[in-house]
Amino acid sequence: MIKNTVVGYPRIGEQRELKKALELFWNKEIDFKQLEEKAKELKQRHWNYQKSSGIELISTNDFSYYDNILDTSILLGAIPKRFKDLEKEELYFAMARGNKDAVAMEMTKWFNTNYHYIVPELSIEDEYKLNSSKIKKEYQEAKQLGIKTKINLIGPLTYLSLAKRVDGGDCIELLNKIKPLYEELLKEISTYEDEVFVQIDEPIFATDKGAILLNLLKNTYDDFCQISPNIKIIVTTYFDHSIEATKVLVHTPIYGIGLDFIAGIENLQSLEFIEKSDKKLFAGVVNGRNIWKNDLEKTIITLTNISNFIKKDNIVISTSCSLLHVPYTLKYEEKLDLEIKSWLSFANEKLEEINILSKIFFCQNLNVNDKKKIKENKEIQRNRRNSNKIHDKDTQNRIKNNSKFSRTEPFEERIKIQKEILKYPELTTTTIGSFPQTPEIRKARREYKNGSIGKDSYEKEMKEYIDYSIKVQEEVGLDILVHGEPERNDMVEYFGEQLKGYGFSQNGWVQSYGSRCVKPPFIYGDISRPKPMTVEWLKYAQSKTSKVVKGMLTGPVTILNWSFVRDDKEKSEVASQIALAISDEIDDLQNSGIKIIQVDEAAFKEGYPLRNEKRINYEKWALESFKLAVSSAKAKTQIHTHMCYSDFNDIIKTIEDMDADVISIETARSGNKLLKIFAKVGYKQEVGPGVYDIHSPRIPSVEEIEEQIKLLLEVLPKKQLWINPDCGLKTRKWEEVIPSLKNMVVAVNKIRQERG
Ligand code: GLN
Ligand code: ZN
Repeated sequence: MIKNTVVGYPRIGEQRELKKALELFWNKEIDFKQLEEKAKELKQRHWNYQKSSGIELISTNDFSYYDNILDTSILLGAIPKRFKDLEKEELYFAMARGNKDAVAMEMTKWFNTNYHYIVPELSIEDEYKLNSSKIKKEYQEAKQLGIKTKINLIGPLTYLSLAKRVDGGDCIELLNKIKPLYEELLKEISTYEDEVFVQIDEPIFATDKGAILLNLLKNTYDDFCQISPNIKIIVTTYFDHSIEATKVLVHTPIYGIGLDFIAGIENLQSLEFIEKSDKKLFAGVVNGRNIWKNDLEKTIITLTNISNFIKKDNIVISTSCSLLHVPYTLKYEEKLDLEIKSWLSFANEKLEEINILSKIFFCQNLNVNDKKKIKENKEIQRNRRNSNKIHDKDTQNRIKNNSKFSRTEPFEERIKIQKEILKYPELTTTTIGSFPQTPEIRKARREYKNGSIGKDSYEKEMKEYIDYSIKVQEEVGLDILVHGEPERNDMVEYFGEQLKGYGFSQNGWVQSYGSRCVKPPFIYGDISRPKPMTVEWLKYAQSKTSKVVKGMLTGPVTILNWSFVRDDKEKSEVASQIALAISDEIDDLQNSGIKIIQVDEAAFKEGYPLRNEKRINYEKWALESFKLAVSSAKAKTQIHTHMCYSDFNDIIKTIEDMDADVISIETARSGNKLLKIFAKVGYKQEVGPGVYDIHSPRIPSVEEIEEQIKLLLEVLPKKQLWINPDCGLKTRKWEEVIPSLKNMVVAVNKIRQERG
């Protein structure tokens, strides 16, 4: 009887070994064989580690060189035409990253996580063909170590739902081409052994999109189960509840159902159906999306509730989703405050939790060590609840007594005052905030951090950069300037480091895409701002020019969405605390003579819940916290916001309600198509649609930008339009930035002349 499992395990390596090996391979410093060897070593280490931690059912095919959706495309032979001449690793990495002849496939967010997958490109005329070598190889590799694994697959319905059709039409129409390949695969897998577990992930059913696929779900899994009695299929969903799908799946002959009881606690309502069907329930009770130590006592209560419906023999303890979304281990965290560290749990520590939970729940003999751990867990939970590191009376009182929730004057009134003071022309030119992160400023930041240079030399370096960027902007002829953000490593980390209640790991890397990892900070306690965070830099920049310098802050929703958030408070309350800190910063900035302040909300949209039923709540607190953050701005202070996407169709009303005076958005790659929604709803605030794409080193020509501006003018009047690049310029080089901005200004001047 299997008692526990893990949905999936991270693959990048606890010291990012895979990242490093990949980059060496891409730089041609090692060959593919060496890369493969590194990968094999990592896989083995990961399997062995899970085994020694007491995990009974371990996954294979959760490894990937780049992305497991891309692996699925390879599995199915879904190769876009432009890559047809390539094969093996050359093909694989060209699909992911492009090569000199072909652009890379598109990449997008994996549900509401910060992981990105490679979007499959499908077409009705393409022939698909099974290529199962990776799956077999990994299964055998593990078997050789004496580890019998479950094989992880992305389900066909989820795969198709996330794909795009290059010939137009709906991907689901291609199910009859894809499904036979899955059947062929299952048939092959059934020959591996007398009994093989296959976990098929169908997270699309945790979203509202699943509703129209329920019929197909039944047919597909009925058919899959016919292939061979050797195969035990576990259909797994995560990131929200999947009640509708569960009600369907219980009527198919699958072996088990995997459910997320953290993000989808509503799944408890499915228990009665599962119970009747006598299926195994893979109960996701250890959070795969957050880094807090599991409260064992609470989880045992949840499991006991579950066992009121489902007999214990049918319960398998699991993680809520793959552990891909959390860092590896606390082992290398030497600088963390010990008390705070004791509250945390990364992937490897979560394995231990799974193990001990299954011992407690299934009443196995607990040894002295286990008993000690249980006792310790209880103490830690108590300590965390009562710790003065978490509770800050001042912050709590401020939230309680706050009476100003948004700006006082309406937009129409504000904009009049602002225009009088700021006197900016029509089609005002500006940028989104950051300028190239040069090796020199990175080095200065690093050396200041590790103490090898002092504050004076650090500040000198930063100020020189600011001087230079102001000079560049004046020479180029931009209207509204920025300081360039040289002091910031990252738009969330920079603020997190200066806020009380925020923690940082040294080695808490999480894969974002391919070899790229991020190290999200975490919020453990009540948030406050001990002192101004940006004022000195902005004051300095403003002192260097007679033009207006725009201050730059990250908004509360983005700060929250890009951090691991404490789980003992509602997100809405945490967001309000951050918002108040930002509002203090705005007040200090405006009192120091900064007349325009941009509050970036790059992650506003990605925080949207997967389920519509939860959307209203999110929109409410996200909107309220943005408004609270800018509530301190006087009428004369112009508030900008920036969002790194452009598809506003379904949230335009919320965006308008944010009530920023100016919003800059990404539109360069879509002409004016995405701007139309602003005109359609009669959006009254000002808008800066990006006129060129900053994601590539290409320098846009004057004509091109002119063309782009003319398209924008077809949709919105020029008095409502600002002109700027798509996003911040920190990933570009000065040699690219300067001519691009020059061309932008020339294009604007030409249009101003032509059109009066
Ligand atoms: N001000 C930030 C920058 O220019 C905004 C970046 C973002 O929203 N992604 O880099
Ligand atoms: Zn952006």
